[in-house]
Amino acid sequence: MRCPNIGLYLRNVVAGVDVKVPLADGQYVTAINFDNAATTPPFRAVMTEIMNYAPWYGSVHRGKGYKSVLTSKLYEAAREVVRRFVNASGHDVVIFTKNTTESINILAHVLAAAGCDQVVLSTQMEHLANDLPWRERFTTDYVAIDEYGRLSLPDLEAKLLKYQGRVKLVAVTGASNVTGYINPIYEIARLAHKYGAKIFVDGAQLVSHVPVDMKPVNSLEHIDYLAFSGHKMYAPFGAGALIGPRDAFENAAPVYKGGGAVGLVSSQSVQWDEPPARFEAGTPNMMGVLALATAIKTLLSLDMKAIAGYERKLIEYAIEGLATVPGLTLYSRRDKSEDRVSLISFTLEGLHHSVVADILAQEAGIASRSGLFCAHPYVEKLLNLSDEAVAYYQTHDDVLVPGLVRVSFGLYNDCREVDVLIDCLQRIAKKRD
Ligand code: PLP
Repeated sequence: MRCPNIGLYLRNVVAGVDVKVPLADGQYVTAINFDNAATTPPFRAVMTEIMNYAPWYGSVHRGKGYKSVLTSKLYEAAREVVRRFVNASGHDVVIFTKNTTESINILAHVLAAAGCDQVVLSTQMEHLANDLPWRERFTTDYVAIDEYGRLSLPDLEAKLLKYQGRVKLVAVTGASNVTGYINPIYEIARLAHKYGAKIFVDGAQLVSHVPVDMKPVNSLEHIDYLAFSGHKMYAPFGAGALIGPRDAFENAAPVYKGGGAVGLVSSQSVQWDEPPARFEAGTPNMMGVLALATAIKTLLSLDMKAIAGYERKLIEYAIEGLATVPGLTLYSRRDKSEDRVSLISFTLEGLHHSVVADILAQEAGIASRSGLFCAHPYVEKLLNLSDEAVAYYQTHDDVLVPGLVRVSFGLYNDCREVDVLIDCLQRIAKKRD
């Protein structure tokens, strides 16, 4: 394939693009990272900011010294950066967490504290992070997917109707970490609100790829809760965010209890602090929060719309190339009109997914991911596995676990790297035949 001129070229905004990795034959090549959906490399701007700030590092909200005061100011300023990034409302709180998984666990705890037998509608395409925390605490049901793995909105409405006002929350991923489909979150929000439910969007695979607006013009389409992880948006220092209406967080005790989450404490009583502090017990991850805020500023300076446009062309180019590989099956629609982020999963006939991923790494220096991607039910459905087949592999250690190979692109990847991928897959297919 020939690499076309598709615009935006941001190779040098991230660190580590020139790193050489060894191949199986002992040669070294420049690493190609197509595993950005798992975690992204740091923006150079993030590294610089962290290094510049390090000498000024102090405790957050715990001291009167200059560094502590400065650190506390930067920490609170970061909250406003997050708020503006997704246009959260003034009534929302931004809670800093470790990652999306922790954010969703906190949210499940908070919503469960309101009591009552209520239903959370998750979907059949979720990452386990947006499934398991709900299962534990609520009656859960799963919105179906269609034959291509896309979310069925008619099924969502049918389920909202079926539970007659008992659905407290529709918990849906903004974009799938398996197929890359972007869900129509504003339409889902409208439906959820029509039936008296709220919406939570798992933004882990969304916010670094397309602009997200929690408060769009049509107020019925607003996003009630949103979570995301810094390490998937070029800020790998262990911070994430949970955003939602302040009053929802005011009625629950903290998940973690200790200093920072409290107002006054006596031997008899505890007064919890107001959110967000209530849900940030202990000394916070200042470096992570600073990294997250800096990554957001960098994304905004690069322009989210331009990023979305570039990545769209890159994934379309990759899909076109993948479709030429004999015996390769794509697990999402090839249609160009499909709304998707820049990732795609596939299988190669006659070869186990982990073998394909190993060969890509060992023969071309390409990092991909293979397996079930923490979205077991979704991948099993995409593969059309029967319940019996799933039960069999789950209970037999000697059976190879089914799965897919995933390649996921960041804004710094380019079509020359995609060409290397396609060439390598062509070679694998040829050798197999
Ligand atoms: N949700 C989705 C869609 C994901 O892809 C992931 C991670 O891959 C998560 C949630 C969990 O993110 P984290 O591991 O940062 O908590």
